[in-house]
Amino acid sequence: MNKQKRIEIFTRLRAENPAPTTELNYATPFELLIAVILSAQATDKGVNKATAKLFAVANTPEQILALGETGLKHHIKTIGLFNSKAANIIKTCRALAAQHHSKVPQERAALEALPGVGRKTANVILNTAFGHPTIAVDTHIFRVANRTKIAPGKNVVEVERKLEKFIPDEFKHDAHHWLILHGRYVCVARRPKCGACIIEDLCEYKDKVYD
Ligand code: SF4
Repeated sequence: MNKQKRIEIFTRLRAENPAPTTELNYATPFELLIAVILSAQATDKGVNKATAKLFAVANTPEQILALGETGLKHHIKTIGLFNSKAANIIKTCRALAAQHHSKVPQERAALEALPGVGRKTANVILNTAFGHPTIAVDTHIFRVANRTKIAPGKNVVEVERKLEKFIPDEFKHDAHHWLILHGRYVCVARRPKCGACIIEDLCEYKDKVYD
């Protein structure tokens, strides 16, 4: 795919949604961190339902530590993998309290050192809580980048590197959300909605679906 096409794709995605953001509800970087940890293999809707009640009673590392692992599990038991997520959140809260003055760090290495926080989560936090132009490649972005040929790659790191290289600076901060939303609602996994896609004429996918 050439540069002109990429520019046109992001120009259209921006025109359609000028200020995209995450569908996870949060009010502070710490709330976003907890919501993103909870969102692995779970829907944003399910996470929002649980965090609405959790954050009303505990939205700082100290308050979650005061709940304890059992108390935390009670609030997140509707979310998949809640046992391991609760254990990681408690360990992360301990690390934040002990090493970061109970604040979410803004450095990638410090974020990735937190239990339950991998490269993708760190990218989401850097981008959405702190405004860095990082691109967290999840399953939706991986699919859209490969189908369209915006940034084809065999694994998430390859796709992430290509997106960072090929996406013009003016679109970099919001590209993450535009691509996720496009993959979640239009370029869906099983039968992409190519007939309703605003970048259909620019996309280089060979097996487009129209019905
Ligand atoms: S044309 Fe189809 S395959 Fe290409 S981005 Fe749009 S929905 Fe996805």
